[in-house]
Amino acid sequence: KSMSLIIMKFGGTSVANINKINNVAKIVASESSNNKLIVVLSAMAGVTNQMQNYINEIESEEIIENDLLLTSGENVTIAILSAILKKKKIKSIPLLGWQVPIITDNSHQKAKILNIDESRIMKFFEKNDVIVLAGFQGITNDGHITSLGRGGSDTTAVAIASAVSADRCDIYTDVEGVYSADPNIVPKARKISKLAFEEMLEMSSTGAKVLHTRSVELAMKNNLILQVLSSLIKKPGTLILDEKKLIEKEIVSGVSYSKNESKITISGIPDKPGISAKIFGLLASKNINVDMIVQNISQDGISANITFTVPNSEISYAKKILQNNLNLIGYHSIKTDEKVSKISVIGMGMMSQSGVAQKMFKTLADNSINILAISTSEIKISVLIDEKFTNIAVQSLHNAYNLEYKDE
Ligand code: ADP
Ligand code: ASP
Ligand code: MG
Repeated sequence: KSMSLIIMKFGGTSVANINKINNVAKIVASESSNNKLIVVLSAMAGVTNQMQNYINEIESEEIIENDLLLTSGENVTIAILSAILKKKKIKSIPLLGWQVPIITDNSHQKAKILNIDESRIMKFFEKNDVIVLAGFQGITNDGHITSLGRGGSDTTAVAIASAVSADRCDIYTDVEGVYSADPNIVPKARKISKLAFEEMLEMSSTGAKVLHTRSVELAMKNNLILQVLSSLIKKPGTLILDEKKLIEKEIVSGVSYSKNESKITISGIPDKPGISAKIFGLLASKNINVDMIVQNISQDGISANITFTVPNSEISYAKKILQNNLNLIGYHSIKTDEKVSKISVIGMGMMSQSGVAQKMFKTLADNSINILAISTSEIKISVLIDEKFTNIAVQSLHNAYNLEYKDE
């Protein structure tokens, strides 16, 4: 058997304490006899949150210092794992992002990886069999440490796998794979054995945090097969791959939810051409991400209302921009609501099947859940609802599309 190059990524819960890191060391050791390995680690579960709390507490707007804080947890875990591997006589080297280097742009806290030099990485393998790499971090051309956005160590793993043309990229986590819904909300959710990149992309971007959205985009672009699997139980996980490799296309493969949405309603705007262009142009120029949009004519037939959603973190900024431009837009009032949630159903087979949306609307209606906004893509339908109905909506849709796990 020839030597392979394998990327193994372990998330925060898999490295949450020394016991867990010892377990990771065992998995790494079992793969290292025949292979070269790059092991990408997150911080211990909760540590990055703690750093974010410090940033909030001192109200720091210093993007360079903030990223230094946010990325610090990964420094700890790679040092611990590498030291344990060396005790097992495995030739290991711990590397921070800048040592590779993983070059990113300078959009701190959501930095994009620009370049990873393959030959530099291969050099580390001349004297080592395992590279233990800090996930979630990189360095700008100016020499400042950056972070890739929360959950970003998946993206480090996929980027490095692409850079070195790895034979495998395994994402180890605290669940056994990608499920038909978050298994923490739907206990009867089914583990999906194979999923198309497009479906996973829609699932991640609509809230399934099992993979960082950007990591799925990158894998799809480079046609790199990903496996999501458990670090606790040795079992095959979920393969994420090209749609052409799927024999059967599910009409609906999964249901996801995101509570990270806020709703803005602007009422009493003039019902005339150009008004939407004005409002959304204004928000776009300030880099505010608008997602769902609904417009309706008001009772008087002269003015209109517009409702749309933005991420929770951008709601107060968006409101401020609109208030500062009251004269330019000319509206009556603005109302915001942060207690909303977006529920999505996703499936490749939806393209060739009618009635999927109808079933979604009927299921929600049967549960007396009101729909506040709707948006669709070829393989996804999303609705906005009151946040307090999140669990019941996910569970009843999961049921309606017959997604639950069955003993066979
Ligand atoms: P890690 O620390 O390993 O990166 P994350 O917490 O980022 O792990 O992602 C794993 C979690 O994603 C699971 O514990 C689960 O609660 C959540 N999750 C949400 N949707 C799904 C889904 N459809 N399938 C699997 N897990 C999901
Ligand atoms: N530690 C980082 C975070 O908590 C990155 C990651 O876990 O993927 O967001
Ligand atoms: Mg994660």
